[in-house]
Amino acid sequence: MNSLSILRSGPLLAGRAVGFGLINASKVTAKNPSFLLSRLPLHAFSSIRASDEEASARAAALNADSEAPTIFDKIIAKEIPSTIVYEDEKVLAFRDISPQAPVHVLVVPKLRDGLTHLGKADQRHGEILGHLLYAAKIVAEKEGIIDGFRVVINSGPSACQSVYHLHLHVLGGRQMKWPAG
Ligand code: 5GP
Repeated sequence: MNSLSILRSGPLLAGRAVGFGLINASKVTAKNPSFLLSRLPLHAFSSIRASDEEASARAAALNADSEAPTIFDKIIAKEIPSTIVYEDEKVLAFRDISPQAPVHVLVVPKLRDGLTHLGKADQRHGEILGHLLYAAKIVAEKEGIIDGFRVVINSGPSACQSVYHLHLHVLGGRQMKWPAG
């Protein structure tokens, strides 16, 4: 089974504002199709986005075992830019390009060593997995969120993993909700 592994640290839970709008059918014409979209409740867009993410995740999973380099290999090689938050000989931590919280940092092993996703972990990976978690804690400290942060690993298409190079998401700087979606 694919897994979504979430580690919590500190106080969590909060509500999210959801917007609503009424649809006036007489205004929905071929000339203003955007009218309908503009009147959809915000949570409708969330479900459209969610199904996009699910489709992308399924597509990404098709090449999961190819061992082909990913965008993270280019970031690690500094071939494409990223905002690095922490680095040591084994891991690189950089800001997510599409942050889901005021602090959203990805922590990745520099050597993938077969760890396309957590579901591929073997006993030999124990050391690097522990090191990644410790690096997440260092990132939380450096980012000033040590009192409350969340560490997420999406593993496989059911968990909407999109990049097949194991990585931890370190999220914080706002109140998190629980349970996660
Ligand atoms: P996943 O969905 O696999 O758990 O997470 C992959 C993450 O990588 C996403 O949150 C996505 O925003 C992030 N990401 C994808 N491409 C890039 C990139 O080129 N640069 C950075 N900094 N983050 C990226």
